[in-house]
Amino acid sequence: MNEDKTLGSGTEKSEADLLRERLLRQTRHACEVMNPAEIAAADAFCEGYKTFLNQAKTEREAAAFLLARARALGFREFRPGDICRPGDKCYVNNRNKALILAVAGKEPAEAGLRLTAAHIDSPRLDLKPSPLYEDKALILGKTHYYGGIKKYQWAAIPLALHGVVVKKDGTIVPVSIGEDPADPKFCVTDLLPHLAAEQMKRTLDKGIQGEELNIIFGSRPILLDGKPEGFKLNILQILHERYGITEWDLLSAELEAVPAFPACDVGLDRGMIGAYGQDDRVCAYPCAEALFALEGVPDRTAVAVLADKEEIGSCGNTGLDTNFLLDFITDLVLGQGGNPRVALRNTKCLSADVNAAFDPTFPGVMEPQNAAYCNLGVVVTKYTGARGKSGTSDAGAEFFAWVRNLLDEAGVLWQAGELGKVDEGGGGTVAVDLAKLNLDVIDIGVPILSMHAPFELAAKLDIAMLEKACRAFYQS
Ligand code: MN
Ligand code: MN
Repeated sequence: MNEDKTLGSGTEKSEADLLRERLLRQTRHACEVMNPAEIAAADAFCEGYKTFLNQAKTEREAAAFLLARARALGFREFRPGDICRPGDKCYVNNRNKALILAVAGKEPAEAGLRLTAAHIDSPRLDLKPSPLYEDKALILGKTHYYGGIKKYQWAAIPLALHGVVVKKDGTIVPVSIGEDPADPKFCVTDLLPHLAAEQMKRTLDKGIQGEELNIIFGSRPILLDGKPEGFKLNILQILHERYGITEWDLLSAELEAVPAFPACDVGLDRGMIGAYGQDDRVCAYPCAEALFALEGVPDRTAVAVLADKEEIGSCGNTGLDTNFLLDFITDLVLGQGGNPRVALRNTKCLSADVNAAFDPTFPGVMEPQNAAYCNLGVVVTKYTGARGKSGTSDAGAEFFAWVRNLLDEAGVLWQAGELGKVDEGGGGTVAVDLAKLNLDVIDIGVPILSMHAPFELAAKLDIAMLEKACRAFYQS
């Protein structure tokens, strides 16, 4: 990204320079447009974000974290029939996996919402309902991967186990093993190179295959009267001691293996954060925090939805391809005596999700003129999709123009980006599901390197820019 430099001081600008300034779109690095105090504030914001990343590695933990924040700030549970008055702060907790947070505006909701939508699920390895088996003096757990992963990336890294076991009587047993430095970790094994000649001939997508994503659970048998009496029994005994559960209870559990390492700074200048699950917590956190930071009563009702299941197509009752958001908006508007369909038609929505950042190591998949770059600000993505924009919500030019103006007026550094070269691949976001509601929606988010890897990278200044963008949007 070249920058057009004006001539040195004391020199008259040439006609060509003046024309360039007037007509050419210039890209600027966030460090150029932010002063030192703003950069320090952005870095400080990202410290809070890192705490969130470390405490909220799953959709349930992210929902719990943000729900606790909301409650502490006076948000109350919304129920159908409630009448939201200007300044009222409310939330909907959808099955502990998705959240809606709202601040009622001065205008009735029928005048249209300012809605942001991000997702709080990330690719991972889920334990199968019947996971445990012993083989050759090891105890392993079978997994079924969740979302679009490169399976080979998940072998030979430390994993932690998060989730819940729900017993027959409804008792919810939360599980988190592997986050405390003193905790044991889990691991998918990989083959040693000495014996990997055949494996190395596999294509990369089969380097580690789905049924090879087996997690080491243990290696010692239970001793009863000094006699070894089974390896799996030992693990079940430990689980029973710690959680009061049996193998039957694992059937109705949701246990997710995620990378066990914490978020950290990346690069000597500490300009980036490396962590698991930044897609899409890197957008969920700014969307929620910007709502929490609202001062006074916004003109329009500001809403943030933090959804589950995006990584597998937004299906399921906690994903956005279902009615929970529509139901909330309907109840909110009906409570105020308005028409929900009119409210939806008047609603503006930012679908906050990541886009791929240009990676100089893999330039071939990008079209550089329409790619997003780290530290050039939030990326606005007009459309996603694949094979000729199939399956996308292509935002209208009118709405893009409105958003562009909003960002410029608020001093938000932004860029436009596509997801890679035409016909190189493709992807999607919840923008499609939101567009079904007959509202205006466009994708906005943070450029990411190594997306969907166990360790994803994002630039701190872009993250802070997204928070600024959300604040301006809620106040518009
Ligand atoms: Mn995403
Ligand atoms: Mn994703």
